[in-house]
Amino acid sequence: MDTTGRLDNLQSKIEESYGGKISALRRDIHREPELGFDTKKTAEKVLVALEGLPLEIEVGVAENGIVATLRGGNDGPAVGLRADMDALPITEETGLPFASEVEGKMHACGHDGHTSMLVGAAHALCGMRDELNGTVRFIFQPAEEGGGGGRVMVEEGVAEGLDSIFALHLWPGLPFGTVATKAGPIMAAADAFEMEIEGTGGHGAMPHLSADAVVIAAHVVTVLQTVVSREVDPVEPAVLTVGEIGAGTAFNIIPEKARLGGTVRTLNEDLRRGMPGRIEGLGQGVARGMRGDATLDYRFSYPVTRNDAGAAARALETATALFDEESVLELPNPSMGAEDFAYFLERVPGAFVWLGVGEDASGLHTPQFAFDEKILARGSALLTALVLKANSPAG
Ligand SMILES: [Zn+2]
Ligand SMILES: [Zn+2]
Repeated sequence: MDTTGRLDNLQSKIEESYGGKISALRRDIHREPELGFDTKKTAEKVLVALEGLPLEIEVGVAENGIVATLRGGNDGPAVGLRADMDALPITEETGLPFASEVEGKMHACGHDGHTSMLVGAAHALCGMRDELNGTVRFIFQPAEEGGGGGRVMVEEGVAEGLDSIFALHLWPGLPFGTVATKAGPIMAAADAFEMEIEGTGGHGAMPHLSADAVVIAAHVVTVLQTVVSREVDPVEPAVLTVGEIGAGTAFNIIPEKARLGGTVRTLNEDLRRGMPGRIEGLGQGVARGMRGDATLDYRFSYPVTRNDAGAAARALETATALFDEESVLELPNPSMGAEDFAYFLERVPGAFVWLGVGEDASGLHTPQFAFDEKILARGSALLTALVLKANSPAG
């Protein structure tokens, strides 16, 4: 298929034909957010929105995920498009008329938008089925925000047979409508640790008879700041954040235990594998020096989200052809955030692409996160165009 004509006004065509449907679905999902793998109602809404389309639909993938396959009229490559469906344990403060009706749950990472944009792309591509070369696999994934739904989907074979794969993420801080990506790492590996500090409890007035777990923990938090500043090559990106600290029951009791929790972000696999040893060595060294001890529990989680260079270039070219040069940004640096689309990219060459929702938009994972719904048709158009470009014999 020649894609040139197909891309003309694709965004406005999608807006005109499916804009109302995409926005209604987004609001419906937004009102009723679901967490983790528990995305049953969201999946049901997606199935209703796909009704009548010429798709082969598989439900119950990774518990509540959906894989919908469109077979084009001609032979060609298999392209995967993936959206995530889960929300976050946050109480919404946007004041939107379609704000979350579920206490303590909110779509604060835009996954309601991603899901709706993918449904929009499914409608647009099904409308071009006869001229389409190859197949498109629309992947609706649960449990991106922890839980690794992407890993489970890959284990269940969802990535098998794909020639390329793409996913979009709405991105505050980028100008509205900007399409941004890069070759290589775009998101970091995200690992987690817990450290238990053991001391000896006692009376707050007699510290010499105890080993104060609070003071040990304070020193351990401080020494852990030297992991990145003193142990890692300065030109190698790394983050260590202690986000949790807990100890004690009363102002005048020295507790015998304290607990720390933290996250480590890296882009380099060797560095990543070396981090637990450094953290444990420093934590234990400090704790033992203060007559206590420390034990580390380290969990490797999402790997680096690594874009294929060709797929990233194709995404930028497609966005330039679809919109204009000003709307496209080749990112100079990755984010140290993480994304479980990484598991798909370990199997299939592809690209994770950010779609700007404005420099003034509230951050992802905040109770104020919101976006202008004009972005939805734009995202659907981009997903559609990525498939058309992949399908085009001219590349
Ligand atoms: Zn998120
Ligand atoms: Zn997200």
